[in-house]
Amino acid sequence: MTHIFHPSPNFDERPADIPIDMLIMHYTGMKTAEEALQRMCDPKAEVSAHYMIDEDGTIFQLVTEDKRAWHAGVAYWRGQTNINARSIGIEIVNPGHEWGYRPFPEPQIKSVIDLAQNILNRHPIPSRNVVGHSDIAPHRKQDPGELFPWERLARNGIGLWFGDDIYKTTLSDLGYDAEDADTILAFQRHFTPDHLTGILDDRTKQTLCRICLT
Ligand SMILES: [Zn+2]
Repeated sequence: MTHIFHPSPNFDERPADIPIDMLIMHYTGMKTAEEALQRMCDPKAEVSAHYMIDEDGTIFQLVTEDKRAWHAGVAYWRGQTNINARSIGIEIVNPGHEWGYRPFPEPQIKSVIDLAQNILNRHPIPSRNVVGHSDIAPHRKQDPGELFPWERLARNGIGLWFGDDIYKTTLSDLGYDAEDADTILAFQRHFTPDHLTGILDDRTKQTLCRICLT
């Protein structure tokens, strides 16, 4: 995956002893990608994100993951409020509800999926901590909005979607006869040999999704 490094001055140090355990999806909400990039690199604006993904799928990296980018603002998720300290932020280019909200093009979503899978492989981020800006700041924000393909992401092991048919289908798609603890354990012995829990937990579901659907 090639990233264009386009450094932003808008970051500071992450506090020590806090894991990176959240992934936040945004849309840029500006007329053009150039405008968004400029704003996120303007020291006066005091906003940024770790990545920005253009509509053609190009991935820009603005802040390295070990630094705290400033993308969440006042927010709350699962008891936590210092979201920037523990998250990675991805800005997805889209004019948003203010300037003409439109569908996210295919190459852009492909890059979102590639980048998110790459991030999830490197950090202990549970599925329920992959959320949108509006999930953590519902009174202020609408991004990434109702056109964002959360279900498709979930089918690729990124975040949550409702209904257990996703996992049932894929277990049986793989060839298993049942979904009881022994069967799940058998799956884990094969695919996640260092993770034998016998339950369909986040890591197991993510592995299952990736095997079947990518
Ligand atoms: Zn946002």
